[in-house]
Amino acid sequence: MDAVCGKIPSMANLISIEDARERVLEAVSPLTAESVALGAALGRVLAEEVVAELDVPPFRNSAMDGYAVVAGAAGELPVVGESRAGRPFEGALEGGEAARISTGAAVPDGADAVIPVERTERAGGAVRVPDTQPGANVREAGEDVREGQTVLAAGTPLCPAEVAVAASVGRSELRCAARPRVALLVTGDELAEPGAALGPGEIYSSNGWALAGLVQRAGAELVLHETVRDSAEHTRDSLARALDAADLVCVSGGVSVGEHDHVKGALAELGAEERFWGVKLKPGKPTWFGTRGEVLAFGLPGNPVSAMVTFLLFARPALLAMQGAAPGAQRAEAALAQPLELNPARDQAVRVRLEPGRRRWLASSTGEQGSHQLTSMLGAGALALIPARDGELPAGERVLVELL
Ligand code: AMP
Ligand code: MG
Repeated sequence: MDAVCGKIPSMANLISIEDARERVLEAVSPLTAESVALGAALGRVLAEEVVAELDVPPFRNSAMDGYAVVAGAAGELPVVGESRAGRPFEGALEGGEAARISTGAAVPDGADAVIPVERTERAGGAVRVPDTQPGANVREAGEDVREGQTVLAAGTPLCPAEVAVAASVGRSELRCAARPRVALLVTGDELAEPGAALGPGEIYSSNGWALAGLVQRAGAELVLHETVRDSAEHTRDSLARALDAADLVCVSGGVSVGEHDHVKGALAELGAEERFWGVKLKPGKPTWFGTRGEVLAFGLPGNPVSAMVTFLLFARPALLAMQGAAPGAQRAEAALAQPLELNPARDQAVRVRLEPGRRRWLASSTGEQGSHQLTSMLGAGALALIPARDGELPAGERVLVELL
């Protein structure tokens, strides 16, 4: 056994999923903030409180197409003008008068109700309207947002609704956390790129595609992405570049203790300090995590499902925390749709489909769960986190799921 690579972690030394996450989060330093144009803010994490400097809507306006009136004046009223969206009625409405009004148009001064057009009858320059209550079909200024109100909190991931609310209060730029810089190395002499012909013993590399996608989805920026041959020298050179270029380094494969696994040795040589090696998790046991200064380094297993699962459970929370977002991906509870065989030695991250049940979400396995069976990730809405135990969980049992 190579002294640098060490041993396969023994079962007794494996740490739990939660402990591993905690060690990762302890090592995270938050990134600085920068100003981002609203058009580029989707997928970023907000680094300031957004406080409205105006009411939304900014003025009293109509909820319907119809006629603005002073409530109480039923019967045939002269139509004295119009208020259109963006072109308010000028002047004030007197009792006994009506103004044509569009949805979203300012309610004229003096008017306090809108009668929907379908309840009116137009006759030349007049309109016949029924009786109505003050405030009917009128939206008050500030019904959505009050001036001075905090509409978005720091740490909020910016999805379309958040960007739209920022726009609605007039913000064209937002302070966002800097995007974490991620370097991705996939190791293996057996790896070929899709499109190339496969030589003997070769496979198409999928981990780079999976991990690059997950990096992007976590709001991070891929600054380096290389395929690394199984040589100590090549591994060390690539890792040296990666550690210099990134806030977080992910390596897939080559992390175990085979003769051709060079990742842990190279990381040690480059001064990365081990924080854990081996997680009580299936799939994903041979996962390494360490730091060099403020840079986080993950040695993820090469098996494609293990690489994705360990990224999702450990690296994604780190990327979120660096950006000031809550690191816990949404946790929820679901009921098993079918019985599930337990693993006595390791907690399991079972890829499940989620379907609405009568009382709670129903989780059903996506199929064969081998760590090499990447298709088990297809359609997976969540990872069901199943504690290690003997026996079987019956259908209907409630389980913790981590939503993807
Ligand atoms: P390793 O951790 O390097 O021993 O790899 C474990 C398994 O994962 C082996 O079957 C590898 O062929 C496979 N593997 C490693 N890297 C990739 C990759 N980028 N794409 C697909 N499979 C991979
Ligand atoms: Mg390998």
